[in-house]
Amino acid sequence: MLIYNSQTHKKEEFQPIEEGKVRMYVCGPTVYDQIHIGNARTFLSFDVIRRWLIACGYEVTFAQNLTDVDDKIINRANEQGRTAEEVAAEFSAAFIEQMRRFNIMDPDIRPRATKEIGPMIGMIKSLIEQGHAYAADNGDVYFSVRSDPAYGEVSGRKVDDLMVGARIEENEDKRDPLDFALWKAAKPGEPSWPSPWGQGRPGWHTECAAMVHRYLGTPIDIHGGGSDLAFPHHENECAQATCCWHQGFANTWMHTGMLLVDGEKMSKSLGNFFTLKEVLDQHSAAALRLLMLQTHYRSPLDFSWERLEGAENSLERIATCMENLVWAAKHASGKADAERAAALIAAAEHAAAEFEAAMNDDFNTAGAVAAYFQLVTEANTYLDEVGGDADEEACYACSAGIAGAFAVLGVELREPKEELPVGLLGVAAGLVGYTGDSVDEAAEAVLAARAEARAAKDWGRADAIRDQLRDMGLVVEDTAAGSRIKRA
Ligand code: AMP
Ligand code: ZN
Repeated sequence: MLIYNSQTHKKEEFQPIEEGKVRMYVCGPTVYDQIHIGNARTFLSFDVIRRWLIACGYEVTFAQNLTDVDDKIINRANEQGRTAEEVAAEFSAAFIEQMRRFNIMDPDIRPRATKEIGPMIGMIKSLIEQGHAYAADNGDVYFSVRSDPAYGEVSGRKVDDLMVGARIEENEDKRDPLDFALWKAAKPGEPSWPSPWGQGRPGWHTECAAMVHRYLGTPIDIHGGGSDLAFPHHENECAQATCCWHQGFANTWMHTGMLLVDGEKMSKSLGNFFTLKEVLDQHSAAALRLLMLQTHYRSPLDFSWERLEGAENSLERIATCMENLVWAAKHASGKADAERAAALIAAAEHAAAEFEAAMNDDFNTAGAVAAYFQLVTEANTYLDEVGGDADEEACYACSAGIAGAFAVLGVELREPKEELPVGLLGVAAGLVGYTGDSVDEAAEAVLAARAEARAAKDWGRADAIRDQLRDMGLVVEDTAAGSRIKRA
């Protein structure tokens, strides 16, 4: 399995630290509002990565934090006249609810920053003792960037180049403008905790480093987040962790591409966002997942409602194909053409192989999905050509393959349209004196009566049959494989 490591800018053969096990961490949201679908794209990418690793037999431990203390939460609380705790509790619950609606697996471990203050203080103390951090007079604690010779390696930056941008926000409490806060002294009215440096709260970068170490142990196999987190967030997490514990931090860094609207990054500050909740109120989770998975996770993804509508249509096409395959298998005449059946089975095997190869090539979900779109096209052609003489095994091989592939991606296909209603027994009894109790048989009897009426040009009877079915919400569909009764 190849995974693109954004630190080395190369696809690398994935080698877990511990045989058969994967430890991964993905930075979670700051809980001050509903998340938008850009955030959701990043979480979906790692959900599918995790699902594929599990499908490949790895025992995956997945941790994701909730940043439940932060300037954004405090500002929101002040705007709304609530406490920061209330805001964080509301949007932590909302985040979890929407993630589940989006069919994202719960993390194995979901630490919250406010519950991890002790380990964070311990880490900061150790960094001060080792000469990598210092407490300023104002009660802040800063990490000394120049004390870490490896600083910049995660995001590919040189410390001297960073100086240019850093000067703008020079701060007299820092010894060097590049230094960043590990601990922030409390301002009046803010949530705070006691520490050796006075009341305060941890910095965001400190949170993830401490949690990775506490819950997964460093180094971990995979550390992920959106590409906008590579610098400074991941750089700073890594600097603290490696200077504190003198072990590697993450073997593979994975960064997702941004979701765009009209070519611009979707973000709260630009106001060009749709929340995950509002999108899922209007569309299926499966369609939004499919739309996102049709672009590779590292590429930018342009969102539009038209594309989402297109994904809904694709899903319907897939589900209808599966329905037709199952129907054709159930009604197979037993006179199938062996060569054609073998070709369809070969196509199903080819799709499975392509799917696996694409997923093993840095989680190329776009290629994986395309392989099954191709199979759907081939299956539809097969069904059109063979009419009522489909091969049962080939049909089931195709439908099972399609179902399995989308299940691995967490894209739930709709259930086949419900069974026909028992009311058909009465219709068949009235029309042809059918006395059995099989709805399928009754449907066949009704169709036979209709065919007879049409053959005899008895249009009055044919229309009467159609009307009786319509009263039950049913229609007759005439296809190459024969006629069938289905729900309208
Ligand atoms: P935040 O709550 O802002 O830290 O964001 C949570 C996650 O969403 C981070 O991994 C971000 O990198 C990611 N993210 C933010 N905006 C976008 C976007 N437009 N497209 C993809 N991922 C994003
Ligand atoms: Zn983080």
